[in-house]
Parts: sequence; structure tokens; C-alpha cells
Amino acid sequence: IAKKESGSSYSFFNQQMAMNSLSKLEMGNHLRQSLDRNELEIVYQPQVDCLLGKIIGVEALLRWKHTTKGYISPADFIPLAEEIGTIASIGEWVLRGACKQMKAWHSTTVEPLAISVNLSVKQLNDERFVDKVKQILEETGLEAKYLEMEITENFAMQDEQLDALSKLRGLGIAISVDDFGTHYSSLSYLKRFPVTKIKLDQSFVRGVQTDDKDRAMIKAIISVANSFQLQIIAEGVETEEQAGFLVANGCSQIQGYYFYRPMTAEQVLPMLQGCLQNKLAFLESNPAGH
Ligand code: C2E
Ligand code: MG
Ligand code: MG
Ligand code: MG
Repeated sequence: IAKKESGSSYSFFNQQMAMNSLSKLEMGNHLRQSLDRNELEIVYQPQVDCLLGKIIGVEALLRWKHTTKGYISPADFIPLAEEIGTIASIGEWVLRGACKQMKAWHSTTVEPLAISVNLSVKQLNDERFVDKVKQILEETGLEAKYLEMEITENFAMQDEQLDALSKLRGLGIAISVDDFGTHYSSLSYLKRFPVTKIKLDQSFVRGVQTDDKDRAMIKAIISVANSFQLQIIAEGVETEEQAGFLVANGCSQIQGYYFYRPMTAEQVLPMLQGCLQNKLAFLESNPAGH
């Protein structure tokens, strides 16, 4: 009986494994076709500076509308795209689309904003990557200083990859470390890495009201940013209390549902024009201009 039991659980395990790799294979095939089938879409989440009282930038976030499964989160398909090698073409598509969109917005707003694009470390393995980025900037007409690339902390980054990042920085592109504080390597990283900004991970923000340790982490990370003369932005801010704590402790740049959720390009435009109306509010209160 024991043998039979272990046998059946073994085959059950095998079936599960086969199912998983089959559905993964299938997902991978769909993912390869997603670009051609127009299933990918970019949404945008505004970033706010609470002290300046305005939107300072927008992060591009990828969405995949799968024909049968509906929207699939990038957290689920980006790792697959990295594994099957489609991240290069998908990443390039996002970068081109986001730069083009921001360039279009520049013509409608008083102050040009920056666009942040997430980068997979794998994209840096392509030795032509830096040239591709240069070409995309030329093609879309976006100035490099309005582009920011977000790269998730990765302790295993190789010299060639760091070199590519330095070249991007050399072009005038800003580089930010995404999900900062969630890996062991955070500090040594900042020495080797041509960083301009750190993004305080949302896991710490989550505990602002409940967890002393999260509050301590936030203060420590803000102090690290100050010591290294880096900008800092907090991610995943959902409440006024969280925003209040961050601003009081020196992190005035905020991204999160409290201000804006990720939205389509069409939905962003009124926000940016709202920004323009704020700018012009003085015309109403002081029409004579003095
Ligand atoms: P991320 O770059 O850290 O992006 C922030 C994530 O937090 C986004 O999830 C965003 O929608 C979500 N978020 C923003 N504000 C809040 C909030 O107040 N509360 C909560 N609970 N969540 C919030 P999303 O869009 O699902 O993206 C997940 C991750 O997928 C991103 O994390 C990024 O690492 C990756 N990703 C997204 N787009 C791309 C892309 O074009 N290329 C690459 N390589 N990775 C991407
Ligand atoms: Mg990001
Ligand atoms: Mg990330
Ligand atoms: Mg993050």
C-alpha cells in the first residue's frame, strides 16, 4: 500500500510538473507573439513632489492583455520574457513608446516632465543596447535629460552591465535603483553604480503606521540618499499618513495610489494640463501681473 501511495503521489507530482512546464511553454509562445498581436500596452503613473506641489515625472509600466487570460501583471511575465529572450524586443518597444509619448506631452505642458522606464538587467547584456537607446532618443526627439531608467537592485551585476549603465549615464540619462532596500547589496552598490536616484521600496512604506522597524528603515534610507547626494522617491504610497511621514522625514517625492494610479496615456493628459492650470492660477488671483 505504501508503495502504491508513494507511486501515485509521485505521478501526481509529475503531472503537476508537466502541466506547469506546458503552460509555461504556451505562455512563452503567446508572449513571443504579443507584440505582433498588439497585446502590449503602456500605462503611466505620475510622480509628485509634495513640496513643489506638482507632478515631476511619470513612470511607464507595461501591461499584457492576454487573449484568453485577461490582463497579466508584468511581475508575472517579465521574468518569463527574460527567460525566453523576448525581453530585448519588448524592452525596446516600451522604451520607444514611452519616449515618443513623453515627447508628445512636452508640446502640451508648460514644463517638460521626465519619463521613467523600467529596465531589465538582461537588456544590458546586448552590446548594442546603448546604441539602440541613442537611436531611440534621436528618432523620438526626446532629450536624454528627460529620460530615466529604473533598474532593480541586483547584487550579481557584472562589470559589462555596470559599464553599459555608465555609458547611459554618460548620455545624460538618469539612473535610478528600483525597490531600494530589499537586497543585501544596497550600499556597496551605490559605490559601483552610476546612480542618480533611489526608489524607496513600497514594502517599507506599507509599515509606516504599524511598524517601528519600517519607519527606522525609511529614515536610514533617506539618510543614505542624502549622504550620497542622491534624489529619493517613495513608491507605493497609499495614504495621507504615509505621505506625511515621508515628507516630514525628508522624502518629498512620492509615487503611489494616494496621488495617482497607473493610467492610460489619454487619462494622463488632463492631469498634466491640471498641472498647467495650477501654474496659471496666479493669472486669476493677480490678473494685472503685479
Ligand atoms: P516597479 O517598477 O517597482 O513598479 C511599481 C509597481 O507598484 C507597479 O506595479 C505599480 O503599478 C505598483 N504601484 C504603484 N503605486 C502603488 C501603490 O500605491 N500601491 C500598490 N500596492 N502598488 C502600487 P506593476 O505595474 O504591476 O509592475 C510590477 C513590476 O513589473 C514593476 O515594479 C517593474 O519591476 C516591472 N515592470 C513593469 N513594467 C516594466 C517594463 O516595461 N520593463 C521591465 N523590465 N519591467 C517592468
Ligand atoms: Mg519601477
Ligand atoms: Mg522594478
Ligand atoms: Mg519598485
